Amino acid sequence: MLELNDPTLLKQAILVGGEWIANTGHGFIDVTNPATGALVGRVPKATRAMTVAAIENASQALPSWSARPAAERSRIIRRWHDLIVEHVDDLARILTAEQGKPFAEARGEILYGAAFFEWYAEDAKRLYGEVLQAPAASRRMLVLRQPIGVCAAITPWNFPMAMIPRKAAPALAAGCTMVLKPASATPFSALALGELAQRAGVPAGVFSIVAGAAAEVGDELATHPLIRKLTFTGSTEVGRSLMEKASGTIKKVAMELGGNAPLIVFDDADVDVAVAGTIASKFRNMGQTCVCANRIYVQAGIHDRFVAALCDAVAALKVGDGMAADTQQGPLIDDHAVAKVEEHIEDALRQGARIAVGGKRHALGRTFFEPTVLTGVTQTMKVSREETFGPVAPIFRFDTEAEAIAAANDTEFGLASYFFTRDNARVWRVSEALETGIVGVNTGATSFEGAPFGGIKASGIGREGSTHGIEEFTELKYVCIAEIC
Ligand code: NAP
Repeated sequence: MLELNDPTLLKQAILVGGEWIANTGHGFIDVTNPATGALVGRVPKATRAMTVAAIENASQALPSWSARPAAERSRIIRRWHDLIVEHVDDLARILTAEQGKPFAEARGEILYGAAFFEWYAEDAKRLYGEVLQAPAASRRMLVLRQPIGVCAAITPWNFPMAMIPRKAAPALAAGCTMVLKPASATPFSALALGELAQRAGVPAGVFSIVAGAAAEVGDELATHPLIRKLTFTGSTEVGRSLMEKASGTIKKVAMELGGNAPLIVFDDADVDVAVAGTIASKFRNMGQTCVCANRIYVQAGIHDRFVAALCDAVAALKVGDGMAADTQQGPLIDDHAVAKVEEHIEDALRQGARIAVGGKRHALGRTFFEPTVLTGVTQTMKVSREETFGPVAPIFRFDTEAEAIAAANDTEFGLASYFFTRDNARVWRVSEALETGIVGVNTGATSFEGAPFGGIKASGIGREGSTHGIEEFTELKYVCIAEIC
C-alpha cells in the first residue's frame, strides 16, 4: 500500500488523446517494488494501433496548441509545475515504490524535474526570431522560429520524474505536442505526470502516454511519418538502433545516451571535498545514473589518504528500503543490474584489483548490493571500458596530469567528467582537455535546469535544459521579402 494522500495519482491506465484506457486488451505490465517484490500496480500495454492513434491525436492537437499565444501555454505549464510541487510527497512515494531510490532522493528528483516546467514556462515567452540586415533596400529578411511539430519521447527508469520534464516542458513550451513512452519498470511516475498535466489544463492530445512493449510502441514512435522529432534517453545501444529507424523519415533526433564518467582527484585536492563529491556522484541512485563517476583516477601523492577516507564514507552508507527514513542506498532496479555489477567486480578481481569495501550482494537479499570500493584498477578491466551502473567505485592510481587526461578520454563515451584540485590554472587546462559535454570541478553534482545537459561522442546528440533545450524543439524558417518599396 502506497498510502497516498491523493490515490488518484496512481493511474493504472494509459493516456491516449485525453482518454485514460484501463484495459487495452493487449496484456499488462506488472510493476513491482524492487525493495520488497510487492506489486505496485498493473499498467495496460498499448497496442501499435493505439500508439498510432496517440500520434494522430497529437498531430490534430498541434495547430491549436502551437497557435496559442506563448503566454497562455506558459500559464498552463506553470500550473503543471505548481501541481507537481503541491503533490511532491505522493509523487515521491510512487517513485520510490517503483524505482527503489531513497524517498529523500525521490523528492529531490521530482523538484528538479518540476524546475524544468518552471524554467520553460518562462522561456516560452522568450523564443525570438531575427530580422537580418538585407543586401538591398528593397528587401526584408526574417528568421522565424517555429515549433518542430509532433514529438516522440522515450525515457528510462533511472530518473523517471526528471527525464520526462526535460523533454515535455521545452517541447510544449515551444508549441509542440508529444507522445511519450516511459520505461516499463517505472510507468507510474509518468502516468502521474499525465494526470497532473490534465489538471493543469494541457489539452487532449497535446501530451499522450503509451506504455507498452518497447519493440512495438518504440518502433512506431521511431518510424511514424507524423513524428518530426524523436527525443530519447537511455542506453547507447538502443539509441543507435532508434537513430537508424528514425533515419527512414529523416526525423530530427536528440539522444541522451550512456556515460562512463571519469572522476580525477589531483594531489592538490581537498580530500574532504573530493570524498563528498565522489559519494555524491558515484552513489546517488545506487550508482544508476548516466553521469555517475564510473572511473576514479587518484594521483599517487593523495591516493592512500583519499582511499582511506572514501572507504570510511562508503562503509557508513546505510542500505535499506527507500521508504525508511535513514536509508541512503536502496536496491538496484532488477536482477540484470546486480548480475552486471557482479560481472564487473569478478572481472576486476581476476585482473588483479582488490576489494577495499563491500563487493557482494547485501544481506538484505533481493537486489540490494553492498556499496563497494575497488583498488588497483586498470584500463583493461570492464569497470573501465563499460558503464557499471551500480554502487561500485573503482580506483585507479596515476602519476601525471597528462596521464590522467589521456586515461579519462580513452573511452567512446563523453557525457560527464569531474575533477578535484585547488590549482586555478589546472581548472582551466583540464576543463578544456576533457572530452565530455559536462565537467564538474570540485563538485560531484552539476545538474541544473538552466544549464545545457548532454554528451558528445557515443553519449549523444543535443542538449536538454537551458535556452538551448527549447531551441532543440524548433525549426528556423528564413523568409525573404522582395520588392518592399
Ligand atoms: P534502455 O534499455 O535503453 O531503455 C530506455 C528506454 O528505451 C525505455 O523506455 C525502454 O523501454 C526503451 N527501449 C528499449 N528497447 C527499445 C527498442 N528496441 N525500441 C524502442 N525503445 C526501446 O535504457 P535503460 O536501461 O532504461 O536506462 C539506462 C541507460 O540510460 C544507461 O545507459 C544510462 O546511462 C542512460 N541514461 C542516459 C541519460 C542521459 O541524459 N544521457 C540519462 C539517464 C539514463 P522498456 O523499458 O519498455 O524496455
